[in-house]
Amino acid sequence: MTTRVIVAMLWRASTLRCPHCGSTGILADWFHLKERCPRCRLHLEREENDYFLGAYMIALMFMEGFFAFAFLVVLLITWPNPPWDLIQWGGAVLLFVGIIAAYPFAKTIWLAIDLVFRPVSSKELGWYKVDQEPDSR
Ligand SMILES: [Zn+2]
Repeated sequence: MTTRVIVAMLWRASTLRCPHCGSTGILADWFHLKERCPRCRLHLEREENDYFLGAYMIALMFMEGFFAFAFLVVLLITWPNPPWDLIQWGGAVLLFVGIIAAYPFAKTIWLAIDLVFRPVSSKELGWYKVDQEPDSR
């Protein structure tokens, strides 16, 4: 797998498209992916129920990094009298809203990372040759 392919897969994932084929429409709703990609038929949840634990980790790392950056910017702008109450409560709201906003991106990026380390197997290809029926949703 080349760097170009990896970058393309991460770009597709960060724009909420299928990392494998680039198709849109892989979200069932904001919190869930469809079972399969509408174009390439890839199983979007490639393992058991705990498959997206990595997505939680990605969302957490992203939001903690974003919070630390925002905290530093507010401190630098308002020093020597930082608004501690605003930082405390604003930070809590920022983290809560941010984790919800980042959740589907974290899932698709996690899927892309998984596809880098475990490319689509012939077994998975066989799965979608066997049942080519399009999603009824
Ligand atoms: Zn696809």
